[in-house]
Amino acid sequence: MLIKIHLVFEDEESGLPTVQEVAQLERRDLSPTTLVLTLSEAKTLLHRLQSHLVEQQVSVRQRQQLPCPSCQQPRRVKDNRHLVYRSLFGRLILRTLSIICHTCLLL
Ligand SMILES: [Zn+2]
Repeated sequence: MLIKIHLVFEDEESGLPTVQEVAQLERRDLSPTTLVLTLSEAKTLLHRLQSHLVEQQVSVRQRQQLPCPSCQQPRRVKDNRHLVYRSLFGRLILRTLSIICHTCLLL
């Protein structure tokens, strides 16, 4: 049996779902070792789940920050970098944006 675990994000404004696959587990025979998650499966599952959650939250936050707070014009990406974030379920590499408004020159 193939078990697919998906995460569904629903856009607050449009209500449209985005589905991302988190993991696939394969089970053939039912036994005490295949009945439950192994520690390795659980760690991998939580790491992937957290990666998708964080990636989605950062993406939404970055989109929210694009309009300039002063003139409301869309700001442009000046620079992007990667940030390493260490968590209980593993290391995450996040893309951070430096944005600037070319009208008011606000960062
Ligand atoms: Zn501006």
